[in-house]
Amino acid sequence: MSQDSVQEKINEDSVQEKINEIFRLKKEKNAVILSHNYQIPHIQDIADFVGDSLGLSRAAARTDADVIIFCGVHFMAETASIICPNKKVLIPDLRAGCSLADTLTADQLRELKQKYPEAVVVSYINTTAEVKAESDYCCTSTNAVKVVNAIPPDKEILFVPDMFLGAYVQSVTGRKLHLWPGECHVHAGIKPKDVVSMKEKHPSAEFLIHPECGCVSSFLYHVGEGDIPESDAKIFSTEGMMNYAKQSESKQFVIATENEIIHRLKKENPTKEFFPIKEDAFCKYMKMITLDGILNSLREMVYEVRVPEPVASKAKVAIDRMMSLA
Ligand code: SF4
Repeated sequence: MSQDSVQEKINEDSVQEKINEIFRLKKEKNAVILSHNYQIPHIQDIADFVGDSLGLSRAAARTDADVIIFCGVHFMAETASIICPNKKVLIPDLRAGCSLADTLTADQLRELKQKYPEAVVVSYINTTAEVKAESDYCCTSTNAVKVVNAIPPDKEILFVPDMFLGAYVQSVTGRKLHLWPGECHVHAGIKPKDVVSMKEKHPSAEFLIHPECGCVSSFLYHVGEGDIPESDAKIFSTEGMMNYAKQSESKQFVIATENEIIHRLKKENPTKEFFPIKEDAFCKYMKMITLDGILNSLREMVYEVRVPEPVASKAKVAIDRMMSLA
């Protein structure tokens, strides 16, 4: 056995030991592990549920575990804690934030509301609990169009904070939305040129694009102009991508979102091929959650995420509206 193979074997054994200990502690503490689609493969593999923000909120709502180990970013753990106030929601690393949620504070939203006092506020789930508390509705990329369509047509709408998702919803619904110039560094970094270059490399692949991506508006423009056939690309939430890849007859897909979702796509579709649109489309915040962090969470019961009142109750109104339109 070469030195490298020996090292690899030691690493594998140590990962397995950690996983065994996580399972033992999980049982002892009556805990459940929820993992976002953007978590590293080892975490997705040991999780009780893997999904997008909406799926994780629903999983949190229906679990009967006492403890939720939330493997995602902070605003998602806040949402789980608001939905399940009687459970202990733990995030393994408090630094796991979100560059998109950070683009809009509650004070900034209050100022915007003064500017558009009649507007209904729809906030994407990627916001802090304080921003949700200032909102009328929450939405995810799965149900953003449905939420906007549920608002009477004569009402003004303030859509925050993702401008690319907002522009996409605007084009699908035909509603004029007031947008906030927020973006996620991972998705905004996916540009029209990435679509063009991957189209050349994989001419027969279908393109599955997340609506937060920086290439969506220009893609829709080119479809509108007839430069790109509509059938060449589909715009989906991460869960929408999972469902579409399963039922599509295509064998090859180019994926435009955070690359770790490809682990689950391959696992659930072993006969199909998936290519990331960009090799470096990774979220550094999601990667702050590690097996060591999960072990520490389970051993020490840290770090608890709890949203104080009255913010929690106010945010819950917007979250409940989102869940009812899911
Ligand atoms: S991928 Fe973007 S939106 Fe998602 S958690 Fe990371 S920074 Fe936030």
